[in-house]
Amino acid sequence: MTTTIPATTLAAMAHIPAERLPALLRSMPKAELHIHIEGSLEPELIFALAERNGLQLPYPSVEALRSAYAFTNLQSFLDIYYAGASVLLQEQDFYDMAMAYLERAAADHVVRAEIFFDPQTHTERGVPMGTVIQGLARACKDAQARWGISAALILSFLRHLSEAAALETLEAALPYREHFIGIGLDSSELGNPPEKFQSVFERCRELGFHLVAHAGEEGPPDYVWSALNVLKVERIDHGVQSEKDWGLMQRLAQTRMPLTVCPLSNLKLCVFPDLREHNLPRLLAAGLHVTVNSDDPAYFGGYVNDNYLQLFAATGMGVQEAYQLARNSLEASFATPAQKAAWGQQLDAHFASFAA
Ligand SMILES: [Zn+2]
Repeated sequence: MTTTIPATTLAAMAHIPAERLPALLRSMPKAELHIHIEGSLEPELIFALAERNGLQLPYPSVEALRSAYAFTNLQSFLDIYYAGASVLLQEQDFYDMAMAYLERAAADHVVRAEIFFDPQTHTERGVPMGTVIQGLARACKDAQARWGISAALILSFLRHLSEAAALETLEAALPYREHFIGIGLDSSELGNPPEKFQSVFERCRELGFHLVAHAGEEGPPDYVWSALNVLKVERIDHGVQSEKDWGLMQRLAQTRMPLTVCPLSNLKLCVFPDLREHNLPRLLAAGLHVTVNSDDPAYFGGYVNDNYLQLFAATGMGVQEAYQLARNSLEASFATPAQKAAWGQQLDAHFASFAA
């Protein structure tokens, strides 16, 4: 099943001048489905929270911290990422972090954000589960009221820790289950295949949560297969390595399995040496349900619109691809069918308004 583009929108697209593409990318309604809230912590906010909590950071200044953001792979990034998250202690800290992200997302015309949070990063430091979830959930609610953005939370397990630790985390989070809609799997991929978490994902499925998992970022196509077949996920986060397996590409295309791709993250972590060589245009042309997302925007050099703008500038994609990617993001979200239909209409009207 592929999206049918309304005839009026198709006609309008033929009349959108190429020079208006950046403005179109910025202003089109879109969903962001792959954002780690701890990865939205800007150095300025890390320093402000450290001061508020009376903590000493191992960096002398905001500039020194920002200049440490020179990663060579996933692990070198994760080391700094966990250091940054250590300033989060009070419910208000989690609230402030999420509000800062949601304000930026709303400015990027994100109408729906599905936000990962890593409770184990915090509970391991002695922060109570309720502090984490209630702070984030309060921000989602206030952001909807203030900026009209729809936001939902996805609890992610750290895959470098054990499945037993994931099960404990799930149990600790269940008293707050009305505040999150899904379960994800993130952190160090290589050596931590999806099947390591088979039992806990089964339990989450029984509980009625949406299921997603990071797979095929640095890891092999086999990890994508086991995310699909063993964990039975509804979306694959990243998935760019799927291109190495023709049979997997067929499966992803035939089932319209969404991939939440993060171009600037892939560039920064050296998954691709240059944005011009990013495979998103090929995945899209092969009929895969790909979407554009920011992953850890404070660390990877840009929020969701920066990802769209830089990717389009590097690859030469055009108006049709812009429409398809925005449409894919809205359809791949876990919002209600009525919400998705309303955003789809907004998207069509938006493209029509850009026709010369
Ligand atoms: Zn991620």
